[in-house]
Amino acid sequence: MPTPRIAILGAGLAGIAAAQTLRAAGCDTVVFEKSRSYGGRCATRNWDGDLVDHGAQYFTVGSSEFARAIRANAQLVVHPLEAPLLNQNGRPFPEKKRYYHREGNNCLARALAEGLEIRFETPVPPPQPLPGGWQVCEESFDRVLTTAPLPQSAALFGVPLDVPETYEPCLTLLVRYWGEWLGRTPDRYGLAHAPGGALRWSACENHKATRIQPGRTVMVLHAAADFSRRHWDGDPQEWGALLRAELEPAWGISSPHFDSHFSHRWLFSRLARPVEVPAFPEGVSYAGDAASDSRVESAWLNGATAAERLLAKLQAPQS
Ligand SMILES: Cc1cc2nc3c(=O)[nH]c(=O)nc-3n(C[C@H](O)[C@H](O)[C@H](O)COP(=O)(O)OP(=O)(O)OC[C@H]3O[C@@H](n4cnc5c(N)ncnc54)[C@H](O)[C@@H]3O)c2cc1C
Repeated sequence: MPTPRIAILGAGLAGIAAAQTLRAAGCDTVVFEKSRSYGGRCATRNWDGDLVDHGAQYFTVGSSEFARAIRANAQLVVHPLEAPLLNQNGRPFPEKKRYYHREGNNCLARALAEGLEIRFETPVPPPQPLPGGWQVCEESFDRVLTTAPLPQSAALFGVPLDVPETYEPCLTLLVRYWGEWLGRTPDRYGLAHAPGGALRWSACENHKATRIQPGRTVMVLHAAADFSRRHWDGDPQEWGALLRAELEPAWGISSPHFDSHFSHRWLFSRLARPVEVPAFPEGVSYAGDAASDSRVESAWLNGATAAERLLAKLQAPQS
């Protein structure tokens, strides 16, 4: 059988896991990624020299498969977060190790992508069917595996999606203060806020060693879904001030220390509810957090599983 040529859409954790699984089985894989870098929603920003995770804050390493993939990569060293995460009642979340990468969580994806052929800054337009395959960005492939968030994947292939809002939107604000370890930041890493308010989550990046320059405190704020919907087209100065007004008393930080902020909008942040992934056209499959749950580790596992399923189909005798 000739070497199967497979296009993977997206260099997030699902796309990278799928591409590595297919490559290890001898397939010719090309990853197309619309942005400039690895990781998708596992994203890190270099903000004037501070490395801040504005997407996934941390990741779990609960499965033996994910642990093995991390251990097998000599370049990849991950560290556990030591300070507690508090729930809305001020109690620590159930004991579970949560990890980060010292150079930014997107380095997880970068390291796991070692050896892959990736075309960055290549947003894939709707692929065209060919006899026995698909055309993606003017190239021919036997199969396509899409890992763009489900609404985007469905739109690319004209697949109807009957779920009104698959993912929650999330307005994100990075806030910097002059002074180190302000207020209650030494005692806790993160705080899940009570429903009904502007904030869903806030965390102090200083707990990630080597990330923040001396003399500064950097906080990450994720707005609640309802707040994000209401302020989606609003001025970040205005919605940012509302988020800070909730953050500062919760963390005991006073605004005279305030320096600057940076904002980002995630249209598809996490799944709003479990969904059934619809059937894609012949020769196309979907992998990603919509097929499991919105976690870095789940996306990676789902990408690997989807690739194994695709391999099994390729190896099945043709009737
Ligand atoms: C604000 C926020 C906080 C989070 N916090 C956590 C956390 O603390 N812990 C945790 O485990 N998880 C967290 N998550 C969830 C986690 O980040 C995601 O579930 C996971 O990263 C999804 O991976 P994925 O590969 O399925 O999708 P993505 O990471 O979205 O990857 C899809 C990729 O496809 C690309 N793409 C889209 N369309 C195209 C196209 N047409 N052509 C080419 N490329 C395309 C995108 O640019 C993207 O890189 C968080 C997510 C967000 C947004």
